[in-house]
Amino acid sequence: MTAGVGLRPLANVYECRAEAQWRRVEFISDLHLSDATPATFEAWAHYLRTTQADAVFVLGDLFEVWIGDDARSPGSFAQRAADVLQEAASLRPISFMAGNRDFLVGASMLRECGVVALPDPTVLDAWGQRVLLSHGDELCLADTAYQQFRSEVRSDAWRLAFLARPLAERERIARTMRDASEAAKRARFGGKPVAEWADVDAAAAVSWMHAAGSRTLIHGHTHRPGSEVLAPGHTRHVLSDWDVDTPPQRAEALRLTRDGITRIDLLDS
Ligand code: MN
Repeated sequence: MTAGVGLRPLANVYECRAEAQWRRVEFISDLHLSDATPATFEAWAHYLRTTQADAVFVLGDLFEVWIGDDARSPGSFAQRAADVLQEAASLRPISFMAGNRDFLVGASMLRECGVVALPDPTVLDAWGQRVLLSHGDELCLADTAYQQFRSEVRSDAWRLAFLARPLAERERIARTMRDASEAAKRARFGGKPVAEWADVDAAAAVSWMHAAGSRTLIHGHTHRPGSEVLAPGHTRHVLSDWDVDTPPQRAEALRLTRDGITRIDLLDS
């Protein structure tokens, strides 16, 4: 545990249950969609229309930034994204857990789109198997500056004050915050490859898994896809980020069936 920024102990972890007749559940995260990523947006929309999954769980950072549901003016990126979500949710259950970039996606918009909102973390009970789902940022304890920032912006007070500002001002603030966050990242991780950025704290992840009665953790956020045993019998699966606009192109889903977990390369077809 890191001084000053403790890990939130888990009590009464929120649970959802896979339908008995479901055969495949898929997880995606870290698409970081924006106006600047049209090819990734199209790949996402195509995936949601064509996947064989019975249900799709989005585990955060679907959007590069979200400054409020009222940004959905006709023809805007936000409106087009909401339209895709609504169409997807008419085909199969879609669940959304917020990430650090899109935590301002509102419950009312999700409801309007027919998307199920999930708290972070959530336990998915899939055919008797308990799978712990999280975006993952809250478990990156080594990045104390980020944890400090996170606890501030995730408070109800911050959220309400921010959303009360005019849209144009929120756009400006979001840009400034992103520039500051990129600068801080450069300072902290200056020039280091992705592999050396803060990762999920293994002990913290295992303690959450114990509290949730789960031996499997699925998370995103770190952009380092892979599967790893964190403690005997306790495995975490990290989702890939998506980027179809800039090489190296990548778009991946993690598929859960009764037989286990596999990675699906969505560009490989
Ligand atoms: Mn993230």
